[in-house]
Amino acid sequence: MCGIIGYVGFRDARTVLIESLKRLDYRGYDSAGIAIIDKKLKIFKDKGEIVKIEKQIPQMKGTTGVGHTRWATHGAVTKENAHPHLSCDKKIAIVHNGIIENFNILKEELIKKGHTFLSDTDSEVIAHLIDDIYKGNLEEAMIAATKKIKGSYAIVAISQDEPLKIVGVRKESPLVIGVGDSENFLASDITAFLKYTNRVMFLNDGELCVITANTIRVYDKNQRPITKKEELITWDIKDSEKSGFPHFMLKEIYDQPETVHHVLRGRISEIEETITFPEQVEKLLKNEITSIHIVACGTSFYAGLAGKYLIEQLTNISVFTELASEYRYFGTRNENSLVIAITQSGETADTLAALREAQLSGCRTLVITNVIGSTATRIADGYILQQSGPEIGVAATKTFTSQIILLFLIALKLSIIQKKLGSNELYNYIVQLKALPRYVRDILQRSNDIIAIAKQLKDATSVFFIGRGINYPLSLEGALKLKEISYIHAEGFAAGELKHGPFALLTDETSVVAIVTQDETYEKILANIGEIKARGSKVIAIAEDKDSETEKHADFMLRFSAGSHVLQCIPITVVLQLLAYHVAHLRKCPIDKPRNLAKSVTVE
Ligand code: GLU
Repeated sequence: MCGIIGYVGFRDARTVLIESLKRLDYRGYDSAGIAIIDKKLKIFKDKGEIVKIEKQIPQMKGTTGVGHTRWATHGAVTKENAHPHLSCDKKIAIVHNGIIENFNILKEELIKKGHTFLSDTDSEVIAHLIDDIYKGNLEEAMIAATKKIKGSYAIVAISQDEPLKIVGVRKESPLVIGVGDSENFLASDITAFLKYTNRVMFLNDGELCVITANTIRVYDKNQRPITKKEELITWDIKDSEKSGFPHFMLKEIYDQPETVHHVLRGRISEIEETITFPEQVEKLLKNEITSIHIVACGTSFYAGLAGKYLIEQLTNISVFTELASEYRYFGTRNENSLVIAITQSGETADTLAALREAQLSGCRTLVITNVIGSTATRIADGYILQQSGPEIGVAATKTFTSQIILLFLIALKLSIIQKKLGSNELYNYIVQLKALPRYVRDILQRSNDIIAIAKQLKDATSVFFIGRGINYPLSLEGALKLKEISYIHAEGFAAGELKHGPFALLTDETSVVAIVTQDETYEKILANIGEIKARGSKVIAIAEDKDSETEKHADFMLRFSAGSHVLQCIPITVVLQLLAYHVAHLRKCPIDKPRNLAKSVTVE
């Protein structure tokens, strides 16, 4: 949440900051602002997305500045509450991502000392605190200020009296240094500066950095200078652009034949008949694991629920999938349990807290994430990378399918370790996995069928999604996708649960999307469809091409082909994603930036 960027170098800072904010605005987009040292410190901020307010930003000539795109936690969405925030003398500017928990006490103290506050945010207190301490050295004032604040933060600050320097510090919110030639960057996320450099240094919690155009100094939490390793990011700037698609979400749905291929690459080998993780996490998947706890939030949580079905089907390990926000406070933990955290960004606050709690209890921890160098990769005992490339659309798509595939690879690996999987079976699975990109491509080619059904749903007031087995988490995910981008009320249910309550809501105005696969519950779900239709609701069934029975029961059909593929859930997911996308598109919703949401939830 909140995107922050700092720049110092030789370019026009205004252009760099605006461009970076556009790349960061998936993190928050209710207001934006920049501050630049143009002899004096100049600032512009307003409510609204950066693209909407950029034309009003006046010319400012400097080459040092900070920028922010906000997702409000404290204080309404107003111009005054937008960042940057300034010191009373308007010489120091700060941008902040996170929450300052003790801001009220600090604010009172600072007001007593004569400081005037102009906003209702928690963040403004940082500007005044630094100002109060400042004696001509910004990093010293920042160090002293961070000793007083409690909470989570990534802060980037500049001072008119030291115009060639930016200072950044982080605790529980992401901050990464972009290393350039005669210029350097500081941002919440790599995509902010990827156009200029792919050389990065990741900051750890408690670390502070001082950056000029030609120097980077980093200090640990005890203010000792440290040397940071520079890492090369292989993402291409094109990956973070729309490539002609009207929305990032659609582009990212269409990325999936490739991302499915990427996540499998180097991990499956039919020749060697093996599953390998180049990240060397095998040591964590040992035989003595008695249970697995999967912790995650949102879409990643639903991937985790799907993972439960996949792992339990192939091993005799019990899997408990838990919401990270609950697990961190109430989860049961034992030392023989492996905790798998799933977080696309590697920065989701609740998931990081759950990971830390699990480690304190002596559990082994493994993280599935899309971002190398993210906090989660540094906390956990091991990590597996999704290799999905940047995901900008707030609604997760390509990262969800990659997460499920990785969980399936983990299931296969554990099954091999437990000697439950014969080499013929493994060979078959590997061959099936290799065919997955083809099945995904096939769905993309059927988008006209999906648009036709989207037209049926576009005026719906309530849509239910139902499925059994692994199709249950898919139903939850299908409902989440629809509600988050189209604002239509949607809920997912295990099909057998409808009669335990939700049936009361069924009317002839309700539409139900039923996921039908020809497994051991096939007859049951057909019976469920009959029960729903008896209440007058419309049923849209998602079923395999070769299934000729379901169409006799449903009102509308959406088809997929996946043979008897073990991961039919992947093409089905793509159907659900496209359905949600096209409904939202027909309703003219702001698909990439849904109301009140932001990607990468770095606050609790
Ligand atoms: N707490 C700050 C605000 O409301 C920053 C929010 C965030 O990082 O999401 O402005």
